[in-house]
Amino acid sequence: MKDGDHLEISADDLIALVSRYNPKTNADLIRDAYDYGRDLHAEQRRHSGELYFNHPVAVAAILTEQQLDDATIITALLHDTIEDTKASYAEVSERFGEEIAELVDGVTKLTNLQLTSTETKQAENFRKLFMAMSKDLRVILVKLSDRLHNMRTIRAMKPEKQAQKARETMDIYAPLAGRMGMQWMREELEDLAFRVLNPEGRASIIRRFINLQKETGDVIQRITGDMRHELEKAGVEADVFGRAKKPYSIWRKMQEKDQAFSRLSDIYGFRIITPSEEDCYRALGAIHQRWRAVPGRFKDYISQPKTNGYRSIHTTVSGRDGKRVEVQIRTGQMHDVAETGVAAHWSYRDGVRSRNPFAVDPARWIATLTEQFDAEDDHQDFLEAVKLEMYSDQVFCFTPKGEVVKLPRGATPIDFAFAIHTRIGSACVGAKVDHMRVPLWTRLKNGQSVDIITAEGQSPQATWLDIAVTGKARAAIRRALREEDKARFIKLGRELARSAFDNVGRKATDKALSTAARAMRFSDRDDLLARLGSAEITGREVVSAVYPQLLPKKGAEVDAKRAVIGLSPGQSFERAFCCQPLPGERIVGITFKGRGVVVHAIDCDRLSAYEDQPERWLDLHWHEGSHPAVYGATLEVTLNNDAGTLGRICTLIGETRANISDLQFVDRKPDFYRLLIYLELRDVAHLHSLMLTLEAESDVAAISRCRNLGNESAESTA
Ligand code: MN
Repeated sequence: MKDGDHLEISADDLIALVSRYNPKTNADLIRDAYDYGRDLHAEQRRHSGELYFNHPVAVAAILTEQQLDDATIITALLHDTIEDTKASYAEVSERFGEEIAELVDGVTKLTNLQLTSTETKQAENFRKLFMAMSKDLRVILVKLSDRLHNMRTIRAMKPEKQAQKARETMDIYAPLAGRMGMQWMREELEDLAFRVLNPEGRASIIRRFINLQKETGDVIQRITGDMRHELEKAGVEADVFGRAKKPYSIWRKMQEKDQAFSRLSDIYGFRIITPSEEDCYRALGAIHQRWRAVPGRFKDYISQPKTNGYRSIHTTVSGRDGKRVEVQIRTGQMHDVAETGVAAHWSYRDGVRSRNPFAVDPARWIATLTEQFDAEDDHQDFLEAVKLEMYSDQVFCFTPKGEVVKLPRGATPIDFAFAIHTRIGSACVGAKVDHMRVPLWTRLKNGQSVDIITAEGQSPQATWLDIAVTGKARAAIRRALREEDKARFIKLGRELARSAFDNVGRKATDKALSTAARAMRFSDRDDLLARLGSAEITGREVVSAVYPQLLPKKGAEVDAKRAVIGLSPGQSFERAFCCQPLPGERIVGITFKGRGVVVHAIDCDRLSAYEDQPERWLDLHWHEGSHPAVYGATLEVTLNNDAGTLGRICTLIGETRANISDLQFVDRKPDFYRLLIYLELRDVAHLHSLMLTLEAESDVAAISRCRNLGNESAESTA
């Protein structure tokens, strides 16, 4: 340390400040935190050149004025350690416990918010974010005190930096303090910012204020004296205080009302503090008896407290000279709440949380914010400028760079990714939330930082439709899936076209396909192939568009009894149940004495049983014509167990003109079930297009064709 370096407030000083209101404070822990913070910040300096650690200690001292608990005081001492020193969350947690580590981490997150000049418009969002992300309002209390100290010492900063900080303070921190019911904090923050933002305006208010005092003498003294006298006469026990309002408050009232600097009621405020609630009303009676109440200015926030816990009676009265004064009447306890607001909840008196019956439970306070707040009711209050609403329908998360992304509640990393950029969303393969890998269906919470992991060549999955909640993400996913489906249908269509042309001894050249597309009035070759792949048209139709003479007359469907070609006259056939070959697939027959021929798919496992009996094998192929939907095939499908899923699947199958002959559940879990669907189809193209359709459905987790049914006998038939 250099000569002259010293810390303005020692650990002993700070402990003394805490002990005044909390004799049971854990002095050792505070001293520990003090030493730890001091050693970590070591030689770091503030803009003024003084030791950096003076700042956290000053913040802690500000919080002792609000009589806050040890955890809050220690958080203040450590509030810049995780951000600015080598301290880590883990270390803070180990030394000072999880609660304090969480609080310090919360302050660090708020500090990391990027509030750049362009984002002044986002001020409302940021205020919402602050409230929403701080499950523990002590985080905001520390952050506000941090800002207050920085504003008190802002002169050491460069002018541009001063202006930026002052703007933020005016837009975000001061209104936030107001919402939390901390009036003194709000007023001081506003005034410190006003000093930077409009020094001339402020100076002129002060000048005029001084002139007014010269003209009228000590108004405060005179009026408080009159009031005390009236209250005494009426036998009401009460203290009366008067004060001049802060320059910024006066300035704003003048701006709002476009008024000259003359109304006493805009400059001075008077307060009557009584021992009991009943005395408040008695005091009100005495005041109204003596002075005339100004109509429309009476508000009873005792019988109807504000959402931030504020209680008081407000009235404005005018004297014989016509001068108006504003009076607030409240009990001592109400006054504490009015000054410290939500902080009153953590206030300590004599080593225990103070039992102020009017202290607001922070959880309830947040809850009340969800209710409609009538700004009209609050005309007299400084809070009226901003309408309270709670943001229970929103979550705010961070990018790794600290930018805020606003999402609807229930949003997942998929939504986050698409909110940043469609490209990021499409390439998403995973996500880290607060540095931990999480599944993509994880619901994001306020204040989490989200890092999207991307990979080239990745494309959106059908299952994402269930995971995403934002319209932007869902639309992008659907678009991508449609594209992908089309690509798959085209590929399949090309295969089908090739085999259809092969069957008539021709080649499915690009030329032939383009010709067919034209003949069939499709927009181009890909369009034709996609339709073929999706079974909208058949390979036979495509072939006949180019080579009508090569095919049997169109119209009649192939008789199921004559569907297989290559049998001897009079020989009958059955389809093997094991592999369920469909028209369009390559097949082979196995002859049985007295039973005709059993037709297998060429790749059926069961055929190995006949390898040493080549005399029983029979070359067969399916009829090229169009077949009726009578050929059985079995699909094994895994579905999300949601209401209506199965119904939707069955409807889809019906739409493809396949028949369902049976359904059989294999496995039922709470979230998934597996079942076998027995279908009757035209041919293999029909099956493939049906499978594609089902696969594209978001409720379908898995789908496959079952080709190894029937354990005992390969010869049983469909
Ligand atoms: Mn700080």
